[in-house]
Amino acid sequence: MENIASKLTQEQYEKNFKELHPPFSYGAALAEASRCLYCYDSPCMKACPTHIDISQFIKKISTDNLLGSAKTILKSNWVALTCAKACPVAVLCEGACVLNEKGDKPIEIGRLQRYVIDNYFAKEMPPLFTKKPSNGKSVAIIGSGPAGLSCSAELALLGYNVTVFESSDIPGGLNTWGIAPYKMRKEDALKEVELVKTFGVNVKTGVNVGIDILFNDLYKAFDAVFLGIGLGESRALSVNGEELSGVVSALDFIEQVKTEEWSSVAVGKRVAIIGAGNTSIDAATEAKRLGAEEVMVIYRRSSQDMSAYNFEFDLAKKDGIIFHFLTAPKKIVGKNFVEGIECIRMEPGEPDSKGKRRAFPVPGTEFVIPVDMVIKAIGQEAQNEFIASIPGVKFVNGMVEIKPDTYQTGNPKVFAGGDCINGGKEVVNAAYDGKMAAHGINNFLNN
Ligand code: SF4
Repeated sequence: MENIASKLTQEQYEKNFKELHPPFSYGAALAEASRCLYCYDSPCMKACPTHIDISQFIKKISTDNLLGSAKTILKSNWVALTCAKACPVAVLCEGACVLNEKGDKPIEIGRLQRYVIDNYFAKEMPPLFTKKPSNGKSVAIIGSGPAGLSCSAELALLGYNVTVFESSDIPGGLNTWGIAPYKMRKEDALKEVELVKTFGVNVKTGVNVGIDILFNDLYKAFDAVFLGIGLGESRALSVNGEELSGVVSALDFIEQVKTEEWSSVAVGKRVAIIGAGNTSIDAATEAKRLGAEEVMVIYRRSSQDMSAYNFEFDLAKKDGIIFHFLTAPKKIVGKNFVEGIECIRMEPGEPDSKGKRRAFPVPGTEFVIPVDMVIKAIGQEAQNEFIASIPGVKFVNGMVEIKPDTYQTGNPKVFAGGDCINGGKEVVNAAYDGKMAAHGINNFLNN
């Protein structure tokens, strides 16, 4: 990048990246818990993909039984701190809270959950669960993201010998490096890895299955294998100029912001993000908070068709992010460094099979926006090559095919969950998948 935004002071970075939803104090947590109606047929619990017994855990807060509350939460969700901080609660549990219908503010379930789990970690994880005696069987888990961790925790408590293989040097997957720091710091995700390790799970980092160890060797050495491998590389824009200095992928950029000193992360003065999903909003707001003067999101369809949640869109607008809808990139302009992005206006057409309206270029409407950094955020590729190397495992529409009741793939000894089976959903979906797959594996190994 030629035109790097000026560095901020550490105080400015801390201010820009301060938590969006700070923790409750003791009094505020009690007051919020006391507003809950403890609904018998809790719609909040149904709306949570891991079905945490929300009214129970909130009731336990109000009787000061915080460890009991932690147990209620964790038995449904092993990455409950990440979910408390990063879940889109407005469209899940809090969106379903009955108080919305009464015209009242919904219970802040996410912040209460965080209050409970923060307390549990602050007390250094007193044992809440009893592990079954060893059954002599072993399971290999590939990937230490939310699906892998959930599967590991559940299997370890059932008496399995569990080993997690993580290609990165830092465990936790997207929970550790893929969530914006104003939502959650990487230290929180690492606490959840530590919790799973207390159950005897062996987490091996820096081991890339397929390179450092052959899949076939794992397959032979373990009684079952769980794939929690997520998705692969960021999708290419496939336009001229993509190779220029200053073009980066959103995931690489977000990882840098999460794992490196903020002052060392290069960001342009004028930054264009291509794509309008939740990852693109994260990248846009992070670029702005790192000091970029102007940040814009370029999206080929209209605002109604973007996949970012409304609350993420609102956050970006509050941060001063500019949105260019019905605008598609044609090429990235520059000699060695990015100097601009040539775009073309689009017009909406009929909806496609997913209900999103197709968009068509309007000839002769090309124009150039001067920018010095382009961040690609149009999704990730599936891990086709790796999956293809596993006998019996099939891909359907870029996702690993599983039996929905058991999470078993076409290879009976291989199970899968998380982004690799759903194309990229929420952490809470991966947490649920991992847990259910553990029970699929348990049934398989006991029949
Ligand atoms: Fe409490 Fe709202 Fe859930 Fe009812 S729906 S139990 S009020 S959080």
